[in-house]
Amino acid sequence: ATPMSIMTATGRGAQAGVLIKDAEALERMAKVDILIVDKTGTLTEGKPALTDVVTFGNVSEEAMLAMVRGIEAGSEHPLAEAIVEGIEAKDIAAAPITSFEAITGKGVQGTSGKQKIALGNAAMMDVAGADHKAADKQADALRVQGKTAMYIAIDGKLAGLIAVTDPIKATSRDAIAALHEAGLKIIMATGDNEKTARAVADQLGIDEVRAGVLPEDKKALVDELHAQGHKVAMAGDGVNDAPALAAAEVGIAMGTGADVAVESAGVTLLKGDLTGIVRARKLSVATLSNIK
Ligand code: ADP
Ligand code: MG
Repeated sequence: ATPMSIMTATGRGAQAGVLIKDAEALERMAKVDILIVDKTGTLTEGKPALTDVVTFGNVSEEAMLAMVRGIEAGSEHPLAEAIVEGIEAKDIAAAPITSFEAITGKGVQGTSGKQKIALGNAAMMDVAGADHKAADKQADALRVQGKTAMYIAIDGKLAGLIAVTDPIKATSRDAIAALHEAGLKIIMATGDNEKTARAVADQLGIDEVRAGVLPEDKKALVDELHAQGHKVAMAGDGVNDAPALAAAEVGIAMGTGADVAVESAGVTLLKGDLTGIVRARKLSVATLSNIK
């Protein structure tokens, strides 16, 4: 493409809040045949709200939530923010936390007083050495509603279950439909549970779901599709999406997400609206056809 046609296209994109990094990103976008999308913060608002709290054993709900609030205060995950706000709304103060560790794609753990607390998915319970079987039925019932259910363990024993719901962005459905019309296959890759992921994917008409994936798995998925001869775009918002964004032909970051995602991306959607991908694709096709 000529420098002039590239400038025109990137200028049009920028006006619509679609930042295209360079000529390569613009040109590659037309050749993409598969889009991988992260769920949380990309297809969904990334603004979940706390909906359910269940306790097991003899811990009080208030004591458990105080520790959960304390521990999530140290996490930057969108789930953590939702959980903190939901507990604050119940007027339960944070318990003091003396040690804290976030485990990407799994959850958080730490110490409060003499007790150890862990919160997250099934993989996080494995880290904490807690058996979560007693909570699975209730967790699955929440997940088929599209909610994200997380286990809580205290001192290595299952103590509770909390769930949040993260609304699907109003624009996601139209964007997915338009990308289908443009001939793209859409794969959702998420660290979230299979049941939650399917409930969300089904509402959006997404072709394939890869659930329970760790950050390195997202990058491995890009590699797998490359080996099959596909050209891949990957859209994500999180720190853990950065390796896959960098590996894809076109990395697409949400301007509302983590800085490192933006740095790894060829395209940034300032408004975090997936219809920007449709626009980037059209600009790319138009630029390439201009120069035959
Ligand atoms: P996604 O790929 O959908 O953005 P992540 O890979 O960031 O999701 O997280 C995967 C799962 O790990 C979450 O669904 C949740 O169960 C658990 N998790 C991660 N961080 C936290 C946290 N701070 N608090 C509770 N659970 C967490
Ligand atoms: Mg995410």
